[in-house]
Amino acid sequence: MNALQEYLIKLIKIQGPISIATFMAEALGNEQHGYYMKQDPFGQDGDFTTAPEISQMFGEIIGLWQANNWLNMGRPETIHLVELGPGRGTLMQDALRSMKIVPGLLDAVKLHLVETSPALRRIQEKNLQAYIKPLWHNRINEVLDITGTDPIFVIANEFFDALPVRQFQKTETGWHERLVCLDTHENLCFQLAPIPTSEQMIPPVHHRAENGSIVEICAIGENILEEISGHIKINDGAALIIDYGHDAHGTGDSLQAVKGHQYSDILTNPGDADLTTHVNFQRLKQIAQRIGIKTYGAIPQGSFLQSMGIKARSDKLSLNATEAQKKDIHSALNRLIDEKEMGKLFKVMALTDHGLQGVIGFEV
Ligand code: SAH
Repeated sequence: MNALQEYLIKLIKIQGPISIATFMAEALGNEQHGYYMKQDPFGQDGDFTTAPEISQMFGEIIGLWQANNWLNMGRPETIHLVELGPGRGTLMQDALRSMKIVPGLLDAVKLHLVETSPALRRIQEKNLQAYIKPLWHNRINEVLDITGTDPIFVIANEFFDALPVRQFQKTETGWHERLVCLDTHENLCFQLAPIPTSEQMIPPVHHRAENGSIVEICAIGENILEEISGHIKINDGAALIIDYGHDAHGTGDSLQAVKGHQYSDILTNPGDADLTTHVNFQRLKQIAQRIGIKTYGAIPQGSFLQSMGIKARSDKLSLNATEAQKKDIHSALNRLIDEKEMGKLFKVMALTDHGLQGVIGFEV
């Protein structure tokens, strides 16, 4: 049993069961023992690999997507480029390299990284020092406090899936929150709260769900989306959100733990494995639309990348490559766009102000 498990057992003994959201927040973000706080989890030797770590083409394409928006906005003098959860900074490195080809763009960019992990901030600083000096923040509202009336460009890849969710299960006696409790041997276990939650907590679209259905609510993610959408509505801008999830109001328990590229037990040794849930793009889209900005998608990652010309980019990279490199480029392309790999499960959604024309990547 690791130190965080011991701590959570003590905490539950003292104050009673905790929500799944509290458990996730501790497992990922506990200052001392949280998963992201203590290590670099990415790559072959790590626990999982993300799209920017698979190929430079991913970040380059995202950079070009935002560059196109900047041109269509009439080249604003200042643009605040914000990345949520930048990992190693690989995506941003590739994006800035491709943005550099548009004259004047990098001079206009002020870079903000929203990152809570000191370990990852250090890696981001090292990887980006040749390009631009970023400002780091713990939360999006710290960024929006200083952007004034300037437009923002937001990028978030595999960020929303790491945010804590609460889970509620429908039973004959109503909706009950799923909690982390102690069993008779004082081990962590899942249990439903004995007292039902008011149905008002549950989005109306689920009220007629069958008994047994589990609904996940990511209040933090919804708040972040509201903040971004509010700023874009008033001061203009564009956001690109990429994650795995569904573009319909799904039900079900999507919480999973991954360690060393394998699924692992959620409650054993928390903080040693990554925890994620599927992102509910439909819900995020509704929030943005309610606030009054334009939405695109969510569409499959494979469709977005192909519409953005990833095949032509991989052909270009292959031109001067060795045979071994050509094979790598082809295999990376396949991992990013193939339906059996990341092409379908991962989705791309964009948010922009109503005035922005010529948004690319979403033509089907
Ligand atoms: N975008 C990167 C990394 C994805 S992993 C990539 O695609 O490779 C999730 C990232 O979000 C990590 O950088 C993690 O430290 C950060 N993160 C997780 N929860 C966060 C939170 N609540 N606030 C800010 N950053 C967070």
